[in-house]
Formats: sequence, structure tokens, C-alpha cells
Amino acid sequence: MNIASVEIFRHDLPVKNGPYKMANAEVWSLQTTLVKLASDTGLTGWGETCPVGPTYAEAHAAGAQAALQQIAPALIGKPVQPLKINRLMQGQLNGHNYAKAAVDIAVHDLLGKHLGLGVAVLLGGAATDSVPSYFATGVGAPDEIARIAAEKQQEGYPRLQVKLGGRPVELDIETIRKVWEKIRGSGMRLAVDGNRGWTTRDALRICRECPDVPFVLEQPCNRIEDLEKVRPQIQHALYMDENGTDLATIIRAVGTGLVDGFGMKVTRIGGLQQMAAFRDICEAVNLPHTCDDAWGGDVIAAACTHIAATVKPSLLEGVWLAEPMIEGSYSLGEGVRIRNGHIRLPQGPGLGVEPDESLFGSPVAAF
Ligand SMILES: [Mg+2]
Repeated sequence: MNIASVEIFRHDLPVKNGPYKMANAEVWSLQTTLVKLASDTGLTGWGETCPVGPTYAEAHAAGAQAALQQIAPALIGKPVQPLKINRLMQGQLNGHNYAKAAVDIAVHDLLGKHLGLGVAVLLGGAATDSVPSYFATGVGAPDEIARIAAEKQQEGYPRLQVKLGGRPVELDIETIRKVWEKIRGSGMRLAVDGNRGWTTRDALRICRECPDVPFVLEQPCNRIEDLEKVRPQIQHALYMDENGTDLATIIRAVGTGLVDGFGMKVTRIGGLQQMAAFRDICEAVNLPHTCDDAWGGDVIAAACTHIAATVKPSLLEGVWLAEPMIEGSYSLGEGVRIRNGHIRLPQGPGLGVEPDESLFGSPVAAF
């Protein structure tokens, strides 16, 4: 089975009760990019990539579409085999993992449909048919975030991530303390995510002033060098998110003992093929991690859920989906939904979700 055609679509995903606020960004609507691969056997596979605005990472929607147009002609006539397609893409364009990921996901969807197997089986096999999610608050007033924390704990989320940064650090400390008052003793785990927005000065102060709150400190500062500086001075567990841009960086962070775990995005690392390698590296050294993406609709949500289902359950921190934050859905059928803080693994061959293509209009490009 070979790739017969490639189509690239764009589609807007409006933020429900927007904006969504992080330390370095405020977003009202996100443009997602979808890739449709058709095989010479008449099957189709879908992939997706949706940067959460142009400042969260070195990625933006128009960049994804340009990169995909650079890569797409070389895909025509090539076998639907993930590793081969990944190597082929490396030879077509340097970097731009987040764009290549959309092709990688579509290849997995297509191959799964061809074999009659779910993507989780292609990735090694699911350990569970329901994965835990976690809720990420935006940056907000301390009392409001504490209210949300209590609400999400009641809804059944096993983990909460509080977004902080981009304002006086005293407000962040007050938020952490008020959230902890609400969830203490409930068993709900807590991560505080600076999204690169803190100075090392502020990150150190937060840890010093909250020694009794057992949070994970996620990507507090901008650079790996900042994490290296903070690391020996704190008692809290340290996770890397935005800095984990490729497997080489992950191997370095693991090898030097820089971090206690990762927030990981399927598109940032380059797709499911790379994500499976990341999963195996983490399992070899017993490091927990998430399986998320920055934003996106049901295709990316399904991809995150399939890889997450293959992670050793004791190491899976959870799957964050944009689904509760998005107005509407582009899926035929139910799509991928969070219920009681958990996500059911989509059933059926491939990703187990099918977009309603009529919502996307004409493709941005077709090959
Ligand atoms: Mg994060």
C-alpha cells in the first residue's frame, strides 16, 4: 500500500469562554492544520497539528502549512510505513517536527485501517482502554483558580495543572496556597506550570515559600541552562516540557539527571513514531510523563490517547486534551471526550475518529 495523494486543510477551533491565558500567550481561537493521506487501495488517514498560538513554542499554524507543502510531494508513491516515512521526511526538511508529526499520525491512521488494528496496537499494545486526563487551569485570580481546582477534583480528575507566570510572583504563590487548601488530602496530584515565564529568581522563591505543597515544578523558566541552575537549589520535583524539543534533548536531560519527568507533546517530538521511542526511554529509567498536545481537535486527541494507552500506567501522568476548551467539534460521531477526568480509548481500526471533511472547505494545498 502506497500513498496516492496528500491534502492539507486548515480549520479554526474557537476557545470556549476565551481567552485561554498562559504566561506568554493569550489565545481566542486556534487554527489547526489537518493532513489527509489517501492510499492507492482507497483508504484515507488523517493527521493534525495545532500550535497554541505563535509564541508558546517555535511553531505556528502558517509554518506548519508551509512545511507540509515542502514535504508533501516526496510522499507520493511511498509505502505507508511509519519509520520509513519519518526518515524520508528528515531528508526533505530540517526540523519542523510539529509539521512532520501530522504526516506521521496520518500514516499510523492509514496503516491501522489497512491492517484492521487500532493505532495503540501498532505502537506496542494498549495497557488499558481508559486513560487518566488532567485539567489545566489558565492563569487567573487565586480564588477563581482555587474554585476550579475543587470543581475538577469533584469531577474526577486525578491531577491538576495550574498555569502561572507573567505577573507578580506573589499572586502565583497565593494561587498555589489556595489551590492546595482545596485539594489537600483528596489524592489529586498537582503540577505548577510556569510555561517558561518565570525568572530563576521567582522559581526559587516559589519553591522556598511553598515547601509543604508537594507540587511538580513544570518548565519554570525559558532555557535548559535555567533548569540546570534551579535544579540543585530546590526540593520539588522538576519536569521539562517546552525544552524537550527532540529525542537528543530528552536523552541529555535523562542522562544528566536534570529532571524527574516530562510534559510531552506528540507534535513537538515529531509524531507517534518518536513518541513511542520517548515512552521507551522514560520507562527504561522509570520517569513519569504526560502524553499531550499543545492544542487541536479530535484527530490529535485520538493520537494522544492511543500512545498514552501504551504507556506503563504507573508512569503515565495523564493526557491533556483541548477538548473542554474548544467550542464545537469537527468529528463525525462522538469524537474523543473527557468523562469523569478520564478518556476512553477510541475503538475501531486506525485512530478510531473520522473528521467531517465538509467543515474544512477547500484544501490549502493538494498533491
Ligand atoms: Mg506544560
